[in-house]
Amino acid sequence: MSECIFCEIVHGRAPCEKVYEDDLTLAFMDIFPVSPGHVLVIPKRHARDIFEIDAASLAAVSRTSQQLALCIRKALAPDGVMVMQLNGAAAGQTVFHYHTHLIPRAEGSSLALQPRVPGQPGELSALAGRIRLGLE
Ligand code: 5GP
Ligand code: ZN
Repeated sequence: MSECIFCEIVHGRAPCEKVYEDDLTLAFMDIFPVSPGHVLVIPKRHARDIFEIDAASLAAVSRTSQQLALCIRKALAPDGVMVMQLNGAAAGQTVFHYHTHLIPRAEGSSLALQPRVPGQPGELSALAGRIRLGLE
């Protein structure tokens, strides 16, 4: 078992509600969503943070993030989409495998960045299904 939960997910040894996958990236629902539709985009190749990630993975994660932000906008029509990426514990990073957060935002909603309230599995998969429709 790898020490990195996101590597476990990449290798299929831990579950995730997958939204999208290509050669270099994987996107899946965050299990502790800040808002409904919260998606994570990661490189398949392990890198701790922005200081360590290779250029090709960084570009690929950016491309996938844009593609899925468009899908989220199409599926959920939020007022905005926040793209967030944290580096180091002091910045709030808790999983040390590079990732971007795509967080749908509603006008006037308060922002609790690390709510630690698990999403309901049925709700996560229903939202993932709606977001995936934008890829077709
Ligand atoms: P960070 O604070 O490092 O930027 O964000 C890590 C994110 O990963 C958090 O939002 C957390 O909810 C999410 N997360 C942690 N473990 C898992 C997991 O096993 N599966 C999924 N889908 N998300 C996870
Ligand atoms: Zn990893």
